[in-house]
Amino acid sequence: MRLYDAHNHLQDERLAPFVVEVVADATTSGLVAMVVNGACPQDWEEVLALSRRFPCCLPSFGVHPWYLDSITPGWQDELVRLLRAAPSGVGEVGVDGYREGIDQALEERVFLDQVSIATQEDRPLSIHGLRAWGRLYSLLKSSKLPSSGFLLHSYGGPKEMVSQFADLGAFFSFPGYFLGAGRENKLEVFRSIPHDRILVETDAPDQPLPAQLERVSLPLAGDGKRINSPANVAAVYAGLASALRVPIDQLAKQVERNFLALFRKLFPETAAA
Ligand SMILES: [Zn+2]
Repeated sequence: MRLYDAHNHLQDERLAPFVVEVVADATTSGLVAMVVNGACPQDWEEVLALSRRFPCCLPSFGVHPWYLDSITPGWQDELVRLLRAAPSGVGEVGVDGYREGIDQALEERVFLDQVSIATQEDRPLSIHGLRAWGRLYSLLKSSKLPSSGFLLHSYGGPKEMVSQFADLGAFFSFPGYFLGAGRENKLEVFRSIPHDRILVETDAPDQPLPAQLERVSLPLAGDGKRINSPANVAAVYAGLASALRVPIDQLAKQVERNFLALFRKLFPETAAA
């Protein structure tokens, strides 16, 4: 089986000490490609460097709503420069309803700037909408969007919004975290998503799977929290296949088609096409 991790942060400092073994383990488990998402201008060069070091790493550059403090004047030009330096996407970007104290006006301005850069450069967007799905929908609905579509990573919105987002060009990625106890409602939502819009993600180093499902366990972080690895992607596929009640190889083939449709511009060989 050929597997794809639609969303992670391999550049994160928590994964840095293990990066070589993590990529090797992920490749052994069948992973063909992963989208590595920058979260602030300070980590974009590292994302680019990883993509040059490991061909399975496809780069994406963005400002995440939790890191609005990281931007300095001219960040938009730097984003465009990186997008032109390598086949790449725009993300992780988004709006957030989870953390308190985010300046919403600034958040929306930064988000919309990135949506318009992605559209101008025609690159797929990887979007975070945690507890802000309604606000995200209004912003997307009134924007021009890239032709290849966009990813709603860890889609946790209501079932009722799936078709509205899908009409705008959304793909929805499923994280292993949703396999934990008490998240049956999230599985129910994914059962309602058209199969040609489903993707699979680890969001590593975040969103660990339930410990008993992990294939790879990394040492705990300094704060005592578990560190997720992209090498767990096969376990996320297995959990999603059983939730959707489809054979895993059938799911893998569908996810491959979906990944290639959305992220085509991130592959060096097809970027120019
Ligand atoms: Zn993320």
